[in-house]
Amino acid sequence: MQLDKFCQSCHMPKNADMFKAGTEKDGSLNGDYCSNCYDSGEFSMSDTIKTAKDMQEMVKQRLKKQGIGKVKRWFYTIGIPRLGRWKK
Ligand SMILES: [Zn+2]
Repeated sequence: MQLDKFCQSCHMPKNADMFKAGTEKDGSLNGDYCSNCYDSGEFSMSDTIKTAKDMQEMVKQRLKKQGIGKVKRWFYTIGIPRLGRWKK
């Protein structure tokens, strides 16, 4: 499944320079998630990030450190609850 343009966990665009695909246990690439979210067949930080809201907060902090303004932080994270990982 490579139809979506964003990581289905953190909303990072797949065409971003820093985007790297996540990997499965056997080293093959996962089509849905980026390497920050999904590595060797497991979600990263799954003990602290359990909900879409947790993920939104984490991404906002990360963007803040990169000097991204508040409006853009909102824009980049608003779609997170609709992504594949969080959709119920
Ligand atoms: Zn991600």
